[in-house]
Amino acid sequence: MPRELLVVDDEPQICTALAALFEERGFHVTTVGTAQGALEHLERTPADIVLLDLRLPDGSGLDVLSQIKHQVPTLRVVVISGIGDQDTIREALERGASDYLTKPFDFARCFYTAMGFEAVDLTTVQADPEALARVPVAVAQQYHVMPLRISQGMVELAMADPMDIQLLDELHTLLGADIRQVAIIAGDIAETIRRCYGVGAGVSQSDVRVSRREPALPTPVREESSAETAGVVRLINELIQHAHANRASDLHVGIGAQGPWIQERIDGVLYDVPVAKQLTTLYLSIISRFKVMANLNIAEHRLPQDGRIWFDQGTTKLDLRVSVLPTLHGESLVIRLLEPSRVFQLDQLGLTEEQHGQLAPLLEKPTGLLLVTGPTGSGKSTSLYAFLSKLNTGRASIVTIEDPIEHELPHIAQMQVQPKIGLSFATGLRSMLRHDPDIIMVGEIRDQETANLAVSAALTGHLVLSTLHTNDAASGITRLLDLGIEPFLLCSTLSGILSQRLVRLLCPKCRQSVSVDKASLMAMGITMPGEGTTQLWRAKGCKQCRETGYHGRTGVFELLTVDHHIRSLLIKRMSSTQIRQSAMAQGANSLWQSGWLKMQAGLTSLEELVRILPRELR
Ligand SMILES: [Zn+2]
Repeated sequence: MPRELLVVDDEPQICTALAALFEERGFHVTTVGTAQGALEHLERTPADIVLLDLRLPDGSGLDVLSQIKHQVPTLRVVVISGIGDQDTIREALERGASDYLTKPFDFARCFYTAMGFEAVDLTTVQADPEALARVPVAVAQQYHVMPLRISQGMVELAMADPMDIQLLDELHTLLGADIRQVAIIAGDIAETIRRCYGVGAGVSQSDVRVSRREPALPTPVREESSAETAGVVRLINELIQHAHANRASDLHVGIGAQGPWIQERIDGVLYDVPVAKQLTTLYLSIISRFKVMANLNIAEHRLPQDGRIWFDQGTTKLDLRVSVLPTLHGESLVIRLLEPSRVFQLDQLGLTEEQHGQLAPLLEKPTGLLLVTGPTGSGKSTSLYAFLSKLNTGRASIVTIEDPIEHELPHIAQMQVQPKIGLSFATGLRSMLRHDPDIIMVGEIRDQETANLAVSAALTGHLVLSTLHTNDAASGITRLLDLGIEPFLLCSTLSGILSQRLVRLLCPKCRQSVSVDKASLMAMGITMPGEGTTQLWRAKGCKQCRETGYHGRTGVFELLTVDHHIRSLLIKRMSSTQIRQSAMAQGANSLWQSGWLKMQAGLTSLEELVRILPRELR
């Protein structure tokens, strides 16, 4: 039999919405708009719950409340009112209201309040350590409940359906305690369990498959004795899944005098990961297990080691690069997470339309040297892979030597640098010239021999792509000259240099508009184009972006196309500053100018540009 609900409110929209809300949940709902109507209805039809507005056209809701409670003292009356002052709330409660909701209210909260349940938003909830200790994480995960507090011997559990009697019975038996249900109106239980118990606390039920793959020398896969390692494997799986879900590029696992720590690098910035207590005791097993998975020597604790893990679970396929360092309190691990299937295309890098238009012809040339420059982590290899995937039409033979191979591309012969056996960029480059290539990609030019080989390969009819570790595009030229390349050779081979940085993208959900004037920019050493004030955006932070204000990254670029004008400067061995100024005078966008365009478009913030581009580049 449906329960009876009476809604007393003179606003028709509220009545309609509440009627729909409760009817959907099996109630029979009657709505009235006046004090008189409410009392008359209650005389005819008893109700189980009354929702009562205080401002009624023919009288005060407080008086109606008193009369209802006088006639049926046990009736549950919940006040719903736009009046939110403490005196009114106190008076309503004194007159017998079961609860008081201030308009505007969340409808889910209204339903649970009417039913007599407390309701929580899990995204902001802080669980009591006592409650966490009382409810094992496995129980929380299996039954999808989140312990909040222990009060008067009762365990308060947040649950999706607080009216699930069978679930309550089971939990009562399992925990040996009385349970007070709390309804959830926002937030995700699994995420809250992870946040409050810490990563690694739980045991996920999913079937994990982790296998090893040695890129160069395949070795037979050893199966571990399962019993004691199963828990650690699940924990490692959870760590990797967590990092991947957060879009982390790297996972750091380290230990100091205070115990272990875990951090994730997201959009170039490190963030702490909450760590479960069991991690301290499991630390050695975690490191060992990672080493086994990466095919490293687990008996070696004194030397650095590098390895690789192929992580494959459902749709998550990751190529993990593991680096182990012996540190003071134990070995530390850094795991780079690479998504082999995720290769960017040229138009996804963040080039301006003009830069894209200038770069495309350089890639179509059959010969020449095209370089990408920038510091570590500026996205150079992402750009090289975008170039390669554009060039990879099946009509040209492409050979690469890389360190490391981040993505595997179809029909491309990719070589991994292996210093241990003497395979360097230079030796690889020398050999690959006998492999009939049309296009050559060399991961990095950092010594004279590689520079010479790259230039001579470009000179003998190959398109050569590589990177240099310099601040801007023009410095790339002087670096090559410093490495002993003759200016006339560089003139006839170098076609362009693309310099780049990665900037964080503002979270579109929470970015804030700010107006900035010329004077305050001048104070920061920034010359603003134009006069007056300009409208920019700044990071704020919300749930969507984990309170960072940013979500994702994009490239900002500076493209130096080597034309006759640049060649004339190059042959005279002009300084990088002179080359740079000359390129700008001809209309090329500097890194700063490209960044400024992105900032004006609301994609990034001034703070982010200033963080990424040092003063000399502004
Ligand atoms: Zn946000």
